[in-house]
Amino acid sequence: MFKKILIANRGEIALRVLRAARELGIEAVVAHSEADAQSLAVLLADEAICIGPPASKDSYLNIPNLLSAAIITGADAIHPGYGFLAENPQFAEMCRDYGIVFIGPTPESMHSLGSKAGGREIARASNVPTVPGTGVLQSAEEAIAAAEQIGYPVLLKASAGGGGRGQRVVRSAEEMASAFTQAQLEAQNYFGDPALILEKFIELFRHVEVQVMGDGKGHVVHVGERDCSIQRRNQKLIEEAPSRLPEELRQEILAAGVRLAKHVQYAGAGTLEFIVDPEGHYYFMEMNTRIQVEHCVSEMISGLDLVKLQILIAAGEPFTLQQEEIELKGHAIECRINAEDYQKDFRPSIGKVETLHFPGGPGVRVDSHLYTGYSIPPNYDSLVAKLIVHAPSREEAIARMRRALGETAIEGPGLKTTVPFHLEVMDNSFYRRGAIYTNFVNTRMAEKV
Ligand code: ADP
Ligand code: ADP
Ligand code: MG
Repeated sequence: MFKKILIANRGEIALRVLRAARELGIEAVVAHSEADAQSLAVLLADEAICIGPPASKDSYLNIPNLLSAAIITGADAIHPGYGFLAENPQFAEMCRDYGIVFIGPTPESMHSLGSKAGGREIARASNVPTVPGTGVLQSAEEAIAAAEQIGYPVLLKASAGGGGRGQRVVRSAEEMASAFTQAQLEAQNYFGDPALILEKFIELFRHVEVQVMGDGKGHVVHVGERDCSIQRRNQKLIEEAPSRLPEELRQEILAAGVRLAKHVQYAGAGTLEFIVDPEGHYYFMEMNTRIQVEHCVSEMISGLDLVKLQILIAAGEPFTLQQEEIELKGHAIECRINAEDYQKDFRPSIGKVETLHFPGGPGVRVDSHLYTGYSIPPNYDSLVAKLIVHAPSREEAIARMRRALGETAIEGPGLKTTVPFHLEVMDNSFYRRGAIYTNFVNTRMAEKV
C-alpha cells in the first residue's frame, strides 16, 4: 500500500481525496498554487507544498513542478482529481518514468480514449453504437460530403476537445467552409491540435453516463448510471442516479459501458457518456478516464467509496468485487453549488465567505472546501460545494433536496451562489415529473407551471 499520496488538485476534490487517503491510513501531501495557500485541503493536509503562481498553467498544469513536488515530499503516488492533468497521458507517462504511481488508467488507454476520433473507433470495435459521424476530417469538402450523407444539422468537434469546448453546430453546406476553418483554429488554440470530426447534431436528448471500475486485467463492473441532463452550455448543474430510463434500455446501456471498458482492459474509475434520444436510441459520446464531479450520487446509491477503490486498484490490491455484490438502493441527487449569479446569466461571483451554514440530517452529504473567512480566489472553476441527498424514492429525494437547500447559507459581501437556481429547479413541474432533456434550462425554466 502507498505510504504517501500527492494530491495534484484543488477545491472540493482535493479534500475528497484527502479524506479517502486519511481513512486508508495514507499520508497526504496537498500541492497548491499561491492562490490556494489558505484552502481547506491545505489546512487539513499532513503536508502541503506550493507548486507555483495562481494561473493554472503555472501550477496545477505545471508538470515539472508537480513531479518535483512529489519527489521532494517522497510521495509514492499522485492523485490527479478531475480537470487539470487528470486526462493528460503525457503526465501519466512521466509519473511512470519517475517511478511514481499515477492513480488512474494507463497512459496508453488514456491516449486511445482521449481523442474523440479514438473513442469512436474503440466503441465501434466493442460493438457500442456511436452518433452517426466521421473520423478525423482532412478538409471542408470532405466535411460537406459527410454532412450530406448524415443530414444537417451536424456538429464539428475538436477531436482533442474537452470541457464542452471546441464544438460548432453547422446547419447547411453554405456555412461549412467558414465553420470548418474557424473550428480548426479554435481546436489548435484550445487543445494544440486542429483535428476535427463531425457528428450528427442531436437536438433533443438526455445525457446518461455509466460509472465503471476496472482492475486493468479485464475485470470490469458498473456502479449504475447517472442522468446529467440538467446542464447549461454543456456544463452539468444537477445529476441524479439512477436515471429514469426503461429498465431494458438501462440494462442495455450499462452492458455497453462495461463491454467498452473491458475491451480496453480499463483500470480504475471511468465514466462512459451516452446520448439517449426520446425514441430510446442511445449513442456513446466519450469516456472520461478519471473520477467525475458527480461520482457522489453513485456512492450514495451503492454505498461504495469510489475514490478509495481508485487508490486501492492503483496500489495493486486485488479488485475482486463482483457485479452481483453491488446493490443499488434508492435515489440520489446532486446540486453543484457554484459561486455564480444565476439572475445575471450565471456570471461568476467571488468574495469572502462571512456566514456559512451547511445542511445536515438524514440522507444529506456536503462536499465543499468552504469555511467561514475563506476568500474564493478568482482564478479557477466556480464550483464551491456539492450538495448530495439520498432517499428511498426520487420524490422523497427532491423533497429532501429542497429542505437541504433551504438550510444552506453561503453569504458574504457581493457573493452569489446558484442555490436559488436549484430551489427553482426542485419546484419545476417538468423536473418533478422527470421530463428532462439537456435543453431544460433554456426551454423549461422560464415557464412557471
Ligand atoms: P464532469 O463535470 O462531468 O466531471 P467535465 O467534463 O465537466 O466533467 O470536467 C470536469 C472538470 O474538468 C471541470 O471543471 C471542467 O471545467 C474541467 N475540464 C474538463 N476538460 C477540460 C479541458 N480539456 N481543459 C480544461 N479543463 C477541463
Ligand atoms: P467534451 O469532451 O467537451 O465533454 P463531449 O463529446 O462529451 O465533449 O460533448 C460535450 C457535450 O456536448 C455533451 O455533454 C452534449 O451535451 C453535447 N454533445 C456532444 N455530442 C453531441 C451531438 N452529437 N449532438 C448534440 N449534442 C452533443
Ligand atoms: Mg463530455
